Amino acid sequence: MLTKAIEAIERALLKLEPQRSVRLINLSPPWAVEKIRRARLQRTLRLAAERSPFYRLQFRERNIDLARIEHPSQLGDFYTTGEDLRSYGAQAFLTGRPDTAFETTGTTSPIPKRVFFSNHELEEMGRYSAVALYRLGLRPEDRVFSAYDSSFWVSPVVLKMAVQFLKCFHVEAGKIQPLEFYERARPYQPNVIFGEPSWLLRLTEIAKQRGTWGTKFLFGGGENMTEEAREFVENVWAAPLYLSYGQTESFGTLGVECQFKEGYHRNDLFFFFETPEVDAEGYGELVYTTLGRDVMPLIRYRSSDLTKIVEDPCPCGFFVGRLAKIRARCDEVVVCGMGNVGPWVFDEILRDVNGSAPDWQAIVRHGEQRDVVELHLETDNHAHADELEATVLRHLRDRFPDFWKNHEMKLYDLRLTTSPPGTLRNGRKLRRVVDQRQMQASPRKNS
Ligand SMILES: [Zn+2]
Repeated sequence: MLTKAIEAIERALLKLEPQRSVRLINLSPPWAVEKIRRARLQRTLRLAAERSPFYRLQFRERNIDLARIEHPSQLGDFYTTGEDLRSYGAQAFLTGRPDTAFETTGTTSPIPKRVFFSNHELEEMGRYSAVALYRLGLRPEDRVFSAYDSSFWVSPVVLKMAVQFLKCFHVEAGKIQPLEFYERARPYQPNVIFGEPSWLLRLTEIAKQRGTWGTKFLFGGGENMTEEAREFVENVWAAPLYLSYGQTESFGTLGVECQFKEGYHRNDLFFFFETPEVDAEGYGELVYTTLGRDVMPLIRYRSSDLTKIVEDPCPCGFFVGRLAKIRARCDEVVVCGMGNVGPWVFDEILRDVNGSAPDWQAIVRHGEQRDVVELHLETDNHAHADELEATVLRHLRDRFPDFWKNHEMKLYDLRLTTSPPGTLRNGRKLRRVVDQRQMQASPRKNS
């Protein structure tokens, strides 16, 4: 009886109009959602064991009794990695006939990971994204423009599905030059704009010069953004900028911000999230298990992203918990003479150094006597290099006393070089912290 009721709620959640779905989620007791998740996990595990050569072999070798698994953590030390996808090939993971595929290259290997999907999954993820966008205020009367990169990338396809459910006017511009986008989009007066954060930043620099129009919100996906850059965009457009967090492997949205922008509300209906090993602050690598995939389920997939699972209630009142803002890719955390450093450290050191914070890259390499941290900074600020360096050192001293102490002890050298905007990035993603010592010493860890 209960199972039947739960299944009915599950079906309704996935089939209703987005606005009704939001109401139903808010009305559903948390235990009912938990039941749905467990039932979906059981289905996923059975499917994987029956049809995927990779999972069948792994479960058999480990003598895993699937009937007893109620939570992915009960699978012990079993994980799926990006390297598994590359080395076994996507075919080994398939449990059904795919309708489409997307690719992700990440920042550590030129070999793409291929991920397959069904149209049914696309529809479900589109509905979920529609619910998330509805909560942010997207309505049928809105005019949506997207500059997501459509080359092998999942996000524009999921977005298209979502806005279809919401019945908005929608144009996919593709990832064209921000100036061209500005000129061609302007006659349509789009009031909701989607793009990658670094692209939105460049569009905003143009809009600041040439003028903005009435905007409801902007939405960024595909990479992280500093709060300083977000503030710049929001001030220029006089509208909020929301971020989502996802991966191609997850088929888009793992979580979306709410109006408070304090972490991503998790997509708990479609994923089980874990951080099996955490540091003193509760941060660890995010591991997720897909709950709704019928073509290529992923079980305990290591995301390589460093975050924290947050269960504290959010001021917005939505009962679904959150993921903290992603701190770094695990392979971007570098242990060197400076200390344990990752992108968030350099973001913080560079805060207020360079206006809207364009791209930067930190390269750690062996110096003659100690590690050298080379901070490459894009800037159109013609301030004297000495001045910039003095500011960076002051921030290091004031904001990271421990790293400053190591600098005083000459455990590392910090060098600053500058280049014009647009010079550091040559692909969609910029690897922000690069450990060149590792590249020379041993084979690279894949992500
Ligand atoms: Zn919230």
